[in-house]
Amino acid sequence: MKGTYKLAVVGIGKIARDQHLPAIAAQPGFELVACASRNASVEGVRNYQDLGALLAAEPAIDAVSLCAPPQVRYEQALAALDAGKHVMLEKPPGASVSEVAALHEIAQARGCTLFASWHSRAASAVEPAREWLAKDAGAIRSVEVRWKEDVRRWHPGQQWIWEPGGLGVFDPGINALSIVTRILPHEVALRGATLTTPSDTSTPIAAELDCIASNGAPVRAVFDWRHGPVEEWDIDIETDAGRLSMREGGKRLSIAGKEIDLGREREYPALYEHFHALIESKTSDVDVRPLRLVADAFLNGRRVETDAFGR
Ligand code: NAP
Repeated sequence: MKGTYKLAVVGIGKIARDQHLPAIAAQPGFELVACASRNASVEGVRNYQDLGALLAAEPAIDAVSLCAPPQVRYEQALAALDAGKHVMLEKPPGASVSEVAALHEIAQARGCTLFASWHSRAASAVEPAREWLAKDAGAIRSVEVRWKEDVRRWHPGQQWIWEPGGLGVFDPGINALSIVTRILPHEVALRGATLTTPSDTSTPIAAELDCIASNGAPVRAVFDWRHGPVEEWDIDIETDAGRLSMREGGKRLSIAGKEIDLGREREYPALYEHFHALIESKTSDVDVRPLRLVADAFLNGRRVETDAFGR
């Protein structure tokens, strides 16, 4: 670690409080000096109602971390980049693929770091899985993803998930896609999808994706928000050398029937370490592949209407 950067967090809601604020407090490379949120404030720092007011009053800030829902990510990121700040985006990095591409170009033109974070890629099973698949697994034969949870338990009262750009069941599902696109030594293309959407929402409550890896292996994903009480966040990969199974969203890993001993879970501290390293090396990390698969599912998917959700 070299420099310490003055940081602001925008959108103080569930993920900011649960993960970002504790991770920043434990990361000596960042000093949290200000926050912007319409209805919330954070003790011990200066608080503003919106990012515009924060940027006007805090010229010394080096970086911002954007934790509001994806529908406002683009405007906030643009304002921060225009002010010359380094930017970390919560997942998904935008409400459309073109927004993220534009932000990447703008960041490069301004000489700012843009980090499109994927927290599930920092889960402890991900790098050991990627290494095994690259070096020891032989041919990959099939990939099965099951990402199922109870939306009423995990997203109580959140309206934005049901609005355009909110992704619906892809909000958690994209975490699985971020892992798959990281660990497979092949590119993944979408071939077909079914999106099951309640009659009173704009986004799906369940989805099935049929994809193909560039070696020809089928990659199938089932996302469902009508599941419970025990969630399933599982990925199974059949290979020449046996099955790789990831459980609990990347917290557990078994390879060819053997449970692998993983280090302690530290997703968000790892994200902030990476953001710091990107700023130090004057680079960006923007991988849109998970979002592109979701966009392709909306582009290419068959729509099925289901019962009203009753939000
Ligand atoms: P959230 O609590 O509903 O929203 C975060 C905060 O953003 C809200 O409290 C709100 O604060 C602000 N906000 C909401 N709508 C806004 C709008 N239209 N304009 C400006 N600010 C707005 O959501 P969250 O669960 O923290 O999720 C936020 C992001 O983190 C999402 O992209 C999600 O995918 C990602 N994420 C969430 C989780 C999780 O477990 N919840 C995990 C990983 C990643 P104010 O009203 O005070 O402005």
